Amino acid sequence: MADGAERDGLVQGWFRVVELAPGVTCIEEPLHDERVKSYLIAGQERAVLLDTGMGVGDLKALVHSLTDLPVTVVQSHAHFDHIGGAHQFAGECDILIHPAQAEALRRGVTPDRIRRGFSPEHLSGPLPAGKTVDDVTIPGVEPTGFLTGGQTLDLGGRTLEVIEAPGHCEGLLALLDRDAGLLWSTDAVYAGPLYAQMPDSDLDAYRRTLDALAALAPSLRAIYPAHGPTPIEPALLAPMRDAIVAVAQGRQPDGSDNGIDRHEFDGFAVLVRSAMR
Ligand SMILES: [Zn+2]
Ligand SMILES: [Zn+2]
Repeated sequence: MADGAERDGLVQGWFRVVELAPGVTCIEEPLHDERVKSYLIAGQERAVLLDTGMGVGDLKALVHSLTDLPVTVVQSHAHFDHIGGAHQFAGECDILIHPAQAEALRRGVTPDRIRRGFSPEHLSGPLPAGKTVDDVTIPGVEPTGFLTGGQTLDLGGRTLEVIEAPGHCEGLLALLDRDAGLLWSTDAVYAGPLYAQMPDSDLDAYRRTLDALAALAPSLRAIYPAHGPTPIEPALLAPMRDAIVAVAQGRQPDGSDNGIDRHEFDGFAVLVRSAMR
């Protein structure tokens, strides 16, 4: 269970809100071991909410307490810890996602998957007062539109480019503010164990994604990932690309458990299915 310090300063007893740069607010869920991060990215006229977390708490009320701007929801992908609050915005905001992830967003998340996701070993503190895992529901949501690589979102004084970053899953989206040198890397890049072992992961696509992101590194000032510490250094991209290449070329894993190989590197790890070897 969380000590007092960890619970201090949480909004609704669940979210930690940190403004990392002007117009860049991280909404973290620190009591769950995924420590998933959604981001509110504001321009002068609009804001983008990148991902909607785990479905605990009133994310919509939190977002409206942080900005008066009209909000567009961008779902990086439809894994359960990223779409939890999407239904709260349905009918009010545009909800955009890559076409390859749309069906999973429409399906929502089953109570059984939610229960497994919130089992006690994943939690370092209680759900908000009066809530149990049975109160967490992630109903399906109909996207209002689609995003693919190369599209842009004009927020007024800030333009976000949509980058397709498949590998972790098909149709994963990242966002780039090229003028400011900021990359929201979602589940493609973070300083922790990279999940390339998911049923829909593709190591070759992951390598191509990291090739493209590593080429951006010299122009980046900061990377804001969906898990682990934030921000992280753009200098992490080249070694991460090299690591994926080594794994794809048959590097011996440092450990193997339950059909999942773990490859350890300096500051991160790569998980792949042993059957990929
Ligand atoms: Zn994911
Ligand atoms: Zn994730």
